[in-house]
Amino acid sequence: NSFKDAGLHPAMLRNVELCGYKIPTPIQQYCIPAIKMGHDLLAIAQTGSGKTAAYLVPILNHLMGKAKKLAAPRPSPQDADCGTRICAEPLVVIIVPSRELAIQIFNEARKICYRTMLRPCVVYGGSPLGSQIDNIRRGCDVLIGSPGRLIDLMERDNVLSLRRVKYMVIDEADEMLHADWEEEFNKILSGGDQEEGNVKYMLFSATFPTAVRKLARTHLAESYVFIK
Ligand code: AMP
Repeated sequence: NSFKDAGLHPAMLRNVELCGYKIPTPIQQYCIPAIKMGHDLLAIAQTGSGKTAAYLVPILNHLMGKAKKLAAPRPSPQDADCGTRICAEPLVVIIVPSRELAIQIFNEARKICYRTMLRPCVVYGGSPLGSQIDNIRRGCDVLIGSPGRLIDLMERDNVLSLRRVKYMVIDEADEMLHADWEEEFNKILSGGDQEEGNVKYMLFSATFPTAVRKLARTHLAESYVFIK
């Protein structure tokens, strides 16, 4: 019933404290142990419930000690042509329906990644592509983005590869399935680390329509945890 008892990395515990979070919200009390145990997750959660930290804290906690080993090599600032050569290879992808939500999650990810090896980035449509490409190429461990922009970046040469992805999160899934993003979704979700069982899938949704059930059936492992 407290973050201290959740078995978090000291740096994570410090960042949670810096965020001002003292007691885990109910969704966090369910999600943190389930994700730590390596389960896929389907959670019915509303905005305001603390759902963002419910997945960011355990996922980033797991990656903190491993970032050096798992992450792609970074370009050095002296590397003049890194901007055209390096392909971003995030470890976590968070798919969201809107630019506003993307920015909100990015701000929370920045706080939770503070003084760790993990670098979050955010991408969305309606904003210049070039600066987003330059930014993710500087090193991107946690990528938050709208489905259209993620696909656009994936389809360009040497810009974004999902081959190292260990966690795929879909936040506000019902909002995106309304908007007919199913095909894009499947393309992104099947892009992660190809080795069986290496990618954990987390689905968060405020409602539970047929389209969300179908997405869960297609992508979550049979032993997923359902939190309502
Ligand atoms: P979310 O549902 O993720 O949009 O979070 C809603 C708000 O609750 C955000 O402003 C968070 O910073 C805040 N929050 C998340 N977890 C906690 C917590 N354990 N204690 C207090 N506030 C929190």
